Amino acid sequence: MSQPFDGSTASAAYRNALEVIGAVEPTIADAIRSELTDQRESLKLIASENYASPAVLLTMGTWLSDKYAEGTVGHRFYAACQNIDTVEQAAADHAKALFGASHAYVQPHSGIDANLVAFWAILAQRIEAPALAAAGAKHVNDLDEGDWQQLRRALGDQRALGMSLDAGGHLTHGFRPNISGKMFHQSSYGTDENTGLLDYDKVRATAREFKPLVLIAGYSAYPRKVNFATMREIADEVGAVLMVDMAHFAGLVAGKVFTGDYDPVPHAHVVTTTTHKSLRGPRGGMVLCQPEFADSVDRGCPMVLGGPLGNVMAAKAVAFAEARRPEFRTYAQAVADNAVTLAEGLARRGVTLVTGGTENHLVLLDVSGFGLTGRQAESALLDSGIVTNRNAIPRDPNGAWYTSGVRIGTPALTSRGFGAAEFDRTAELIVDVLTATSPTAAASGGASKAKYTVADGVVDKTRSAAHELLTANPLYPGLDLG
Ligand SMILES: *Cc1c(COP(=O)(O)O)cnc(C)c1O
Repeated sequence: MSQPFDGSTASAAYRNALEVIGAVEPTIADAIRSELTDQRESLKLIASENYASPAVLLTMGTWLSDKYAEGTVGHRFYAACQNIDTVEQAAADHAKALFGASHAYVQPHSGIDANLVAFWAILAQRIEAPALAAAGAKHVNDLDEGDWQQLRRALGDQRALGMSLDAGGHLTHGFRPNISGKMFHQSSYGTDENTGLLDYDKVRATAREFKPLVLIAGYSAYPRKVNFATMREIADEVGAVLMVDMAHFAGLVAGKVFTGDYDPVPHAHVVTTTTHKSLRGPRGGMVLCQPEFADSVDRGCPMVLGGPLGNVMAAKAVAFAEARRPEFRTYAQAVADNAVTLAEGLARRGVTLVTGGTENHLVLLDVSGFGLTGRQAESALLDSGIVTNRNAIPRDPNGAWYTSGVRIGTPALTSRGFGAAEFDRTAELIVDVLTATSPTAAASGGASKAKYTVADGVVDKTRSAAHELLTANPLYPGLDLG
């Protein structure tokens, strides 16, 4: 089990900071205090959330925020960027060492931004560069109007193949509501109807037929490992670029839980990630890539990004330094072990799990067996002090809004020090609440997809049981705001 962060040395820093903030805008100082209380007092099972260390958090509240530094290390469009250079170089060096990557671009402000940077780098490398070469031009500004219009059409005519949303893929993997779906013609691959697992033969068949420029692997709600060596084979076979979005499971890669074929970095041309989920850093994004894409990736700002956030890049450096310590491997392994405990605890008590279990940090419950929608389950659990999020399951009859699933993950509570006993108890509490919840009738008659009741006493009983678990495993022990 990993050690929870010691908060005692940060108490004075936060007390003073809140006094400074409160003197200007007390509403905000109060909101900051309340957020800590809320985080401390809820059983946070949202698979994409975590708790960053006081060192990571404090790094963000500094004057590194006040500097403009468009450009890259040593090549800025603004003067006096020496400290931002230090910060960005440190973050990139730590990232390269942590993941064994040849290039790291640490400027993206979020995971979505990292994906946009990656998509445009792939288009620049594979579509724009050959067009420039054919026209004998070095730069897009050198193209005549005819060649430029032809290039614009070619850029808009490319294909991307990603995991379907209901199988656990992400909106930014070419789906219509996101800009990626407007940039690319999109097709998707799903999971096997019986096993719920990714069917690589089907991915291969779809790729052969669809011939994407970009094959995207990675997910937000698939509870299993993905074989990236196989995905690369498929990409090579059809001449596609393999892009892996490891936003959710980057911590398991950094912590060497996912190695060999399951580590995306040696296999993918481009890897994107967030830094705040299982990786436990500041809210932000990053792109790792093979040398072919490095120059284009580095043009992310100003191609699609605003100026880099020096304070956040600094916090990324701090988080990556933490992740390079042996303790982080212990943490990452505990995240995965705890997910197995949680899954087994739920399955043993009769809950249906998508794919039957987990090999990563998350578990996807099919709550239809309780006669509930994901929305009702999420709300009843929240009433009881258990924070989860509803999530579609493959071929979900209730659609993406009400859903039939609930997604839970172990990164946050493992950071608090939860181990096997605590996660088994958590499974028990979840089952108690779901068993005690029933849908109520809709105004139009028939069962409502949103309304529900929980049997008397269960909410209070669960809240106090959750409180007991949380007090035994405090968040930032010793951190006292006074
Ligand atoms: C969370 C997530 C993102 C988006 O990250 P943001 O930082 O919220 O922009 C992108 N891709 C995947 C797979 C994710 O899970």
